[in-house]
Amino acid sequence: MTAVRPEHNAPGAQRNPAAVPHPHAGPRRRGGPRQRGGPRQRGGPRQRGGRPEWWALGLVYAGGLAVLALWWHGTSSVVGAAGWLTDAARITGLLAAYGCAVMLALMARVPALEGGVGTDRLARWHAAGGRYTVCLAVAHVLLVIWGYALTSRSDVIHQTGTLVFHYPEMLKGTLGTLLLFAVGIASMRAARRRLRYETWHLIHLGTYLAIFLVFSHQVANGAQFVGQPLAKAFWYALFIGVSLVLAWFRFVVPVARNLRHRMRVAEVRFESPGVVSVYVTGRRLDGLRAAPGQFFRWRFLVPGMWWAANPYSLSAPARDGLLRITVKASGDHSRALARLRPGTRIWAEGPYGALTEARRSRRGVLLLAGGVGITPLRTLFETMAGDVTLIYLARRPQDLALRGELDALAASSSAARRRVLCFVDDPSEYSLPLTPEALRAVVPDVAERDVYLCGPPGMADAAHRALRGAGVPGRRVHHESFEF
Ligand SMILES: Cc1cc2nc3c(=O)[nH]c(=O)nc-3n(C[C@H](O)[C@H](O)[C@H](O)COP(=O)(O)OP(=O)(O)OC[C@H]3O[C@@H](n4cnc5c(N)ncnc54)[C@H](O)[C@@H]3O)c2cc1C
Repeated sequence: MTAVRPEHNAPGAQRNPAAVPHPHAGPRRRGGPRQRGGPRQRGGPRQRGGRPEWWALGLVYAGGLAVLALWWHGTSSVVGAAGWLTDAARITGLLAAYGCAVMLALMARVPALEGGVGTDRLARWHAAGGRYTVCLAVAHVLLVIWGYALTSRSDVIHQTGTLVFHYPEMLKGTLGTLLLFAVGIASMRAARRRLRYETWHLIHLGTYLAIFLVFSHQVANGAQFVGQPLAKAFWYALFIGVSLVLAWFRFVVPVARNLRHRMRVAEVRFESPGVVSVYVTGRRLDGLRAAPGQFFRWRFLVPGMWWAANPYSLSAPARDGLLRITVKASGDHSRALARLRPGTRIWAEGPYGALTEARRSRRGVLLLAGGVGITPLRTLFETMAGDVTLIYLARRPQDLALRGELDALAASSSAARRRVLCFVDDPSEYSLPLTPEALRAVVPDVAERDVYLCGPPGMADAAHRALRGAGVPGRRVHHESFEF
């Protein structure tokens, strides 16, 4: 199939009939976007000092080596099969506990990690690391039983009973490991697909109790810690440190921010079928320093919604004391937003996310949006300087939410520098197959650009393949997934 190249007002793509002038509905003046409150506008590519994800991973691996050094330091010799098994159990136990600390740190919402590495990537690391951690914990249990059974010349069933019921703090260790195991099972793809997000999240909170139980067992029984005050101090420092970081960024900072900004719903607007924008007002919102492309977790304090905090990206730069999100109805929470009333109190956590200008390394940018993935890219489209092309894919013309204001933004700047290209699935309209040839046909210099990508998983996978085929290196594709 060949791509058709439309003008930015492509026929077949209808303007949103509900679009009326609003503080967020377009640029404030000709000659360039303006943004108040958020990070300063930049004129072009930014120099970056290394990739934050490499630093973060380096730190995690360095910590793992320190844990191995702790085992080495506390082990004088390993003798016989029982000795090998028991020491393998010690190593796996130490690494499993270290894994727990890392998993907590990844989810602590530390701004440097959220903004540098990206929330979706942190969630992927957390999921993969969680699997390793549970496997290490299971290996620890099996190895310790086997090693002790060999040492005491008893069978493993008898040894299991002795270990669990007669060793101090071992019941705690057993319960903690079983809880970790249950969380691991609930997080497996097959199980997670069947669970509601909220149910899965509730089960996941059991991890905190599991880690507390496992920690008590480990410092009481661990051969590396008994009679080793320095090793014990190191372990306490690690876990207390992570707990403090967690409490600070997940509790103290959000409470302080919400008390300060006191956000409320200002207005709810229809954008396209099943899509609404919620305008949010509050005190000194510029103090949130939300960068274009970032998102918040929004909790609307009304019956039936207050207990869920769902992530939605800002669909316009923070301006005139207003934030805006644009949401497609896909389930209970997103559907209920259309019924929100002005004045509804909001509890929001953020800003989070790394899909920002800070990732940019080239003057030329391609923003590639699929469906409601337009929201962060709409904000970037307004605020990014230089040569910016936005490709917006949707199923049907009427699904091209925010189309009117995108056209207005494109028209407000020099046409060659800022283009909007809209495509829909229907081949009788303008459609764009996600292939290298089609991408090169609409953006000939795509290989020289940074690409910001946000859309549903199928579209994002196809886009990744097409971009790779078109010569865009992976490090210049900045992708945010709307699924954690
Ligand atoms: C970083 C990010 C930014 C997003 N920005 C937008 C946006 O601007 N506009 C928009 O329409 N959608 C956005 N989404 C998607 C949106 O969050 C989900 O569609 C919405 O939360 C679904 O909730 P629901 O109750 O309506 O549907 P459900 O059917 O209950 O949930 C559908 C799926 O949404 C996800 N989800 C549900 N609740 C949560 C939660 N509390 N935290 C994380 N994920 C959850 C889960 O993957 C779940 O399987 C974004 C998602 C992420 C991760």
